[in-house]
Amino acid sequence: MEDVRPAASLRAPLRLPHKALMGAGPANAPPRVLHASAQPLVGHLHAEALRVMDDIKDGLRYAFQTTNPVTLCLSCAGHGGMEASLTNLLEPGDVAVVAVNGHWGARASDMVTRHGSRVVKLEAPLGQPVTLEAAEEAVSKHRPRLLFLVQAESSTSVLQPLEGFGPMCHKYGTLLVVDTVASLGGTPLWTDRWELDVVYTGSQKVLNAPPGLAPITFSPRAMQRITSRQKPCSVYYWDIMQLGDYWGCFGNPRKYHHTGPVSLFFALREALAILAAEGLTASLRRHAEAAARLHAGLQRLGAEFLVPDPRHRVPTLTAFSFPNVDLQAVARTAMTRHGVELSGGLGPTVGRILRIGLMGVNASEDAVDNVLSVLEDSIKNPILTNKL
Ligand SMILES: *Cc1c(COP(=O)(O)O)cnc(C)c1O
Repeated sequence: MEDVRPAASLRAPLRLPHKALMGAGPANAPPRVLHASAQPLVGHLHAEALRVMDDIKDGLRYAFQTTNPVTLCLSCAGHGGMEASLTNLLEPGDVAVVAVNGHWGARASDMVTRHGSRVVKLEAPLGQPVTLEAAEEAVSKHRPRLLFLVQAESSTSVLQPLEGFGPMCHKYGTLLVVDTVASLGGTPLWTDRWELDVVYTGSQKVLNAPPGLAPITFSPRAMQRITSRQKPCSVYYWDIMQLGDYWGCFGNPRKYHHTGPVSLFFALREALAILAAEGLTASLRRHAEAAARLHAGLQRLGAEFLVPDPRHRVPTLTAFSFPNVDLQAVARTAMTRHGVELSGGLGPTVGRILRIGLMGVNASEDAVDNVLSVLEDSIKNPILTNKL
């Protein structure tokens, strides 16, 4: 006799519908990527797995546009990239200046505080990036260990300009950390050219792999800081000195740190192979063109953009609203009638906006035209109750 019996629902076959994931993420993954994750399992330290990890490191250096030897994947969601950047660079008592103009800057501030470091918030209004001048004022005043910026603040769809921030930070001995979870692959990002010190992203957004991996890269400057810490990184799981040996970044023999999620590695390897075959420049152009098409279509429908200045709109995600329209009903209709996911707001924008993501494969003319016609129908004929 067993103490706990299995649920009857476990005996039913698993069937999932196809949905167009046109929200803030995850985005759709191409069949080639999903099939790769169904390849036979191998041990996480077997030669085949290590070769896949080497391919991933190469693919990520291309995507991040860096030659950083310490470029790898954390086995976690994008949040882990944020946590690992901060935990590796900060020690208790350090100061971090964090740009806060939406949900993600607020989340990073929370992490800094939990870690026992001091946060100085560099605030900008929702819908606007922080300026280089304001950042320099804060950095020169507080001389922080790091400045944290979000390239695509996905709660508002603001694009944070990054050019000039690296050299400015380095003038004051500050490191620059950039969240590119919602942007890498669809928005120009030059890690080395712009002197960015730690950059991380998520596998499930523009890269079109399943969720569960956080690619990350550390500049030699960031590594110098890490190797001169008074104490090792306080969280074993995030310790880049250990992870670097698992990923073969320091030229030492590979060492077990944790069991890498090899099936996710296979999928990400394929996703990066697709990016390499298309070419980053072509991918960036495709995202820019799709965004322009979406913005023109939204304008025709009478949308109000959360980000007033088109130059500050990120191509991979667009936040907007319609006056006197039940936005929740629109999103519900798009999903139940059309199988199309539109996101609502997040954090400070909850209930105020809709967000359409054009990430990776979804940055196409067809996907844009489809989402616009779904949006139009959902505004005109909304399903007004939660009952179906
Ligand atoms: C989605 C997102 C994250 C968090 O990613 P998870 O994989 O959900 O942890 C972090 N930053 C930004 C800008 C994002 O859009």
